[in-house]
Amino acid sequence: MSISFQSLGLSPARAEQLEGLGFQAPTSIQAEAIPQLLAGRDLVGQSQTGTGKTAAFSLPVLETLDLQLRAVQALILTPTRELAQQVTQAIKDLSGGDRRLQVLTVCGGQAIDRQIRSLQKGSQVVVGTPGRILDLLERKELHFDKLRWVVLDEADEMLSMGFIDDVKKILGATPPQRQTACFSATMPKAIRELIEQFLHDPVTVSIKQAKAAPARIEQSVYMIPRQWSKLQALLPILEVENPESAIIFVRTKRTAAELTAHLQEAGQSVDEYHGNLSQSQRERLVQRFREGRIHLVVATDIAARGLDVEHLSHVINFDLPDNSETYIHRIGRTGRAGRDGRAIALIEPKDRRLLRQIEQRMRQPLSIAQIPSRSQVEALRLKKLQTQVQEALSGERMASFLPLVHELSAEYDPTAIAAATLQMVYDQNCPQWVKNDWDAPNSSNKPVLKRQSADKPQKSAIASNPRG
Ligand code: ADP
Ligand code: MG
Repeated sequence: MSISFQSLGLSPARAEQLEGLGFQAPTSIQAEAIPQLLAGRDLVGQSQTGTGKTAAFSLPVLETLDLQLRAVQALILTPTRELAQQVTQAIKDLSGGDRRLQVLTVCGGQAIDRQIRSLQKGSQVVVGTPGRILDLLERKELHFDKLRWVVLDEADEMLSMGFIDDVKKILGATPPQRQTACFSATMPKAIRELIEQFLHDPVTVSIKQAKAAPARIEQSVYMIPRQWSKLQALLPILEVENPESAIIFVRTKRTAAELTAHLQEAGQSVDEYHGNLSQSQRERLVQRFREGRIHLVVATDIAARGLDVEHLSHVINFDLPDNSETYIHRIGRTGRAGRDGRAIALIEPKDRRLLRQIEQRMRQPLSIAQIPSRSQVEALRLKKLQTQVQEALSGERMASFLPLVHELSAEYDPTAIAAATLQMVYDQNCPQWVKNDWDAPNSSNKPVLKRQSADKPQKSAIASNPRG
């Protein structure tokens, strides 16, 4: 079954333009909401995040705007400034860049004078947070006499952030013949009451997600101290996280290439997934990933769309995404099909604001994990070595080495032979970065193993800051 955008009542030109954006078919909420909104109905939309609600309301709005008229015709209320900016951008993208269309974001924390001047130039669509919208309304800078649409995006979030009274005041100031759409992931009582009071005989579109069991995703963030780089921190983090299969998300192609090279050099089984790969290269990479021959794939959000794997043990946010929606999409790649998943993020001081946003969106603080210290990494490696020795002791191939041990025992103590052998194996498996002089900041732990060249600690490649 494939419904087209055109069959929903959108113009052929717009449907074609959507294909250009990579929207081949409408999502469920779009398929159900768009015809109702185009037919003039008020609407209550309930669906999970990432289901395409923005286009579900933006497309009917765009379809019915009078671009000759330079007055506010659509008002979209969002809980946060970031969401307002995203919605504004989405509307611009969906409009196909028609120059007559003016979309204005109106939020606190930005100069109100500039917003007033933009309003006076005649924006047709205003997207904003309730507080600032109300402010402009009270200053009589925002006029609703030509208003045809009001959309409440993420109404439940607006409620939980304490904006509900502002929203009601704004709705009360809009013309009664307006069309209203209210989107909310959940329907608490206060939202149901608001719908009852302000929407006229709305249709309800509710999309249930076809998920077997709620996924269990454990989320942590690693705070990267100022004097450290993320590149430097990732290796010890990988040691403790020990991912079976992970996508490492980065912001740019350039970071993807650099990070991949760096990880390969450090002995990780890792590859980069990017748009320039041929179809067969891509298939081969996915195949190796599925078979566990590579554990890590580095990708940007765009590249990762083509990466189809059933389950990941980890999602690693090397760079945070621009917004919390993308974060939710990313981490949804783990914890699938009833299995546990783990999502980690590397956070620099400049990311704190975005982190707070994500926490608000998740409605829970993310736990803070410590970058493992040198002695933790070494202890983990020794533990692994111990397991390997135990496995070898219970195997049969060991027998073929016994004559060598007998020969050596003529000269050396068997305990010393064993220790020397362990040291060799440890050193052979130990990547250079562990051997080099490094330690996690504020770590008071002393290394459990003596370093080889303790006299002159040299700076390693990963210990140098890649940004400077
Ligand atoms: P929601 O508001 O429900 O959380 P969004 O509107 O932010 O979801 O959409 C999530 C993502 O899906 C966006 O990146 C958007 O561009 C994309 N998207 C939306 N509709 C479609 C579609 N029909 N086809 C492909 N991608 C889509
Ligand atoms: Mg949304």
